[in-house]
Amino acid sequence: MSAVQQLYNRLSKKELSSYELTEVYLNRITEENSSLGTYLTLCPEKALSQAKDVDIRRVKGEPLHPLAGIPMAVKDNFCTAGIPTTCASRMLRDFLPPYTATCVRRLEEAGGVMLGKLNLDEFAMGATGEYSAYYPAVNPHDLDRMAGGSSSGSAASVAADLAVYSLGSDTGGSVRLPASFCGVVGMKPTYGRISRFGMIAFASSLDTVGIVTSSVYDSAMVLSVMAGADPLDATCSTLPVPDYFHGIAAPLAGLRIGVPEEFFTEDLSSEVQKALQTVLDVYRSLGVVLVPLSLPVVEDSLAVYHILSSAEGASNLSRYDGVRFGARAAGKTSAEIARNTGEQFFGGEVKARMESGAAYLEEANMAIYYRPAQAKQQFIKDSFKDAFQKVDLVFAPTATCVAPTSHGFTRGEKRAFDRFTVPASLAGLPSVSIPCKTNDTLPIGFQLIAPHFREDLIFRAGHLYEKEVAHHA
Ligand code: GLN
Repeated sequence: MSAVQQLYNRLSKKELSSYELTEVYLNRITEENSSLGTYLTLCPEKALSQAKDVDIRRVKGEPLHPLAGIPMAVKDNFCTAGIPTTCASRMLRDFLPPYTATCVRRLEEAGGVMLGKLNLDEFAMGATGEYSAYYPAVNPHDLDRMAGGSSSGSAASVAADLAVYSLGSDTGGSVRLPASFCGVVGMKPTYGRISRFGMIAFASSLDTVGIVTSSVYDSAMVLSVMAGADPLDATCSTLPVPDYFHGIAAPLAGLRIGVPEEFFTEDLSSEVQKALQTVLDVYRSLGVVLVPLSLPVVEDSLAVYHILSSAEGASNLSRYDGVRFGARAAGKTSAEIARNTGEQFFGGEVKARMESGAAYLEEANMAIYYRPAQAKQQFIKDSFKDAFQKVDLVFAPTATCVAPTSHGFTRGEKRAFDRFTVPASLAGLPSVSIPCKTNDTLPIGFQLIAPHFREDLIFRAGHLYEKEVAHHA
């Protein structure tokens, strides 16, 4: 049974109240956060009052959602009314949003209990968790290692059981990479499956709400609540949300999973290679047809991603000009205020991306960088489309290695951590990172990528993998 199902049973049988459960989590966070750096803000009063409400409704016998009364946490780039929302930046240190993001609101309406706001790389730009302006979130499996980013706190919170599940955001891999490093399930749904309203923008054409859980089953549960049309986000799809549990345990015999040679590069560490082979063996034993594929999307994806995301990021973050949003530095003219504000309140990575993003958008550079990047993005989308003529899902590593220690990487090397996650992002496809079952001490994840809006296939293949390895444990 999944973590949510187990807690739901205990809550339903009144072995435990949601209030007590919430207290357990709040106490654990208070004890552990100084060494892990997972949370930026705790909201104990709000959480306990949400928990109490659910307890009262349960006593009255009201029908409750399985997520009701379950403690969760939210990456600090989602607006939460009256609760600090900093994007781990000094720029938004004093920002109290007047409204709540649609996805968070939907969870709260289902009875979700929000424990607090989670650490991240500043404005979700980063792959390590080290670019938070406050303190880094580290890996609960080994405190000398990075949690991965940018949803560092989201992955670490679930891995350390400081939240039952969490929300992250994934623009180029920000939920999947830390999920792989921390040994949890990180789901990036199809672009447009979940409303982005209230999620603070980085690269709007790629930004997706992500979900971190300890099992695939729970991921399906959380997505079911958040997915679906929202009048407040015109890019959110109006396609109906399927019942992800219908057929989630249907046998996999005959399912075709593509294994693209381009993702199995020489720099995959031997432990990752071994772990991935073991996963493929499990799928083979479940009757899955493994189809060798050529999917030439890895080589150019990082460059394309950085051009497009930095250009969009530069444009989105230009609103923090000392006048409209965020902190303000001194200056004699509005141009000077804007310059000084950025200089003073943004960290190095954000500044670097804003600078390169602005350069890519200059008229003279459009034909050299931006337009070719868009053309390549189209090629990547078409390549996936071709692949999905032949297979139902695509299998890939999430990262080349286990979580590294936080030393000795250049900015460029850190950006390259995402080479296997950005292709699905550029194509807007749903993709999950699931922990491989290994006997090694540090976690390794594998990805399953599905056609647009086929999260159901990911959940089915992921859930049956988990069931199979649990069975043999
Ligand atoms: N690590 C990638 C970056 O730094 C992805 C970030 C994200 O998905 N938000 O841009």
